[in-house]
Amino acid sequence: MKCNDFLKELTDYLDGSLSEGLKAELDEHLHWCRECHVVMNTTKKTIEIYRDNKIYELPDNLRTRLQDAIMTKCKGHKSSKEPS
Ligand SMILES: [Zn+2]
Repeated sequence: MKCNDFLKELTDYLDGSLSEGLKAELDEHLHWCRECHVVMNTTKKTIEIYRDNKIYELPDNLRTRLQDAIMTKCKGHKSSKEPS
């Protein structure tokens, strides 16, 4: 699983609406990818804030902004695990 795939499933992961198999893949990604771990925590906190305010929709641009940030970081230090 790559960061981009992780991010696509992130909100469903936090909602707990993923299948067991896919959830396990995301868990595994989190084990070695610190960047996605940070994004996951940030998103989780953001969702909790929105829930506290009884707003269930994430802002449209939030996911895009997170995705841009993480992809920039991932490209910055090329992981040896990524195929070249
Ligand atoms: Zn990642």
